[in-house]
Amino acid sequence: MTHEVTIHPLVSPWGRFGLYSFFIDAPEPAVVDTGIASSPAEGMAPVLEKLGRSIEEVRWILLTHGHIDHLGGAHALWELTGRRAQVVIHEADAHLLRSRRAHVENYVAVRRQYLRDPNGVAEQTATAQAVISGELEPTVLVRGGETLSLGGDVTVSVHHIPGHTAGSVAYVVDGQRSVFVGDAVQVHGAANGFPGYEDPDAYRASLTYLRDEIRPRHLYLGHPYRSADGKPFGVELNAEDSRRALRESLDLEQRIADASRRYLRDGLRETDSVYSPFEWVANELGYTGDPTREPSPFFTTLHGYRTRFAAGS
Ligand SMILES: [Zn+2]
Repeated sequence: MTHEVTIHPLVSPWGRFGLYSFFIDAPEPAVVDTGIASSPAEGMAPVLEKLGRSIEEVRWILLTHGHIDHLGGAHALWELTGRRAQVVIHEADAHLLRSRRAHVENYVAVRRQYLRDPNGVAEQTATAQAVISGELEPTVLVRGGETLSLGGDVTVSVHHIPGHTAGSVAYVVDGQRSVFVGDAVQVHGAANGFPGYEDPDAYRASLTYLRDEIRPRHLYLGHPYRSADGKPFGVELNAEDSRRALRESLDLEQRIADASRRYLRDGLRETDSVYSPFEWVANELGYTGDPTREPSPFFTTLHGYRTRFAAGS
């Protein structure tokens, strides 16, 4: 590639969160992640217009994973492109694009048993209805290892980096090591102050792979994740900050793994605490955030260690 492809962040607000999408200004323009239902019209279109581009021109919708705040706007964006954009997602998260119900089923399978909120299922159902713009069949299913051509000499390679979800991927603009990872690099978490991942071993392996093999020169995150000192990283990191974010993510995973292993070998203990049955782990880690606030990464992550250590590994 003779010159670097320009990348623009596109921000859409949602409650406590800023939802971040990125515009890759290639001959066939791409948008990485889509926010929620309102994001394409309210967050993306005005910024693209200011850049002298239009949302109709977008030819690629690249989804880093299946969470609602990343794919909720996919159907709306696809409609705004005249249904011409390719919609790309990993096959392990594709059910989350095809079905609103799949999001509720995820909640029921893991978080509900810890949150014990009698209105939880109704709330999850209402949220999926409101923030997912439509159920959609992806046009390109990936597994990692693919190369997508965005026109001219611009290519994007796809790398499977599971852990946060089973179908999390990194998109890498080849030749300039611009790397989009969605939520796969959690550092100390975003608004909830705790990193969220479903599979601890896969999360660690993916962080190591990003550090040693991908070695981002520019790293684009799905949220302004916090550093160890509580200060948020931005969502566009240079090479040095990328290394720091990966190192801090790995360090914290190690601490959580150690605490979980020590605690879980004796089995779970139910207590009156909101952190129950992982109160001891929260104390050990000094975690004082509200674990019941959605998307409750504390319970998602500790459930992963519970599953892992119960399996005897
Ligand atoms: Zn996510």
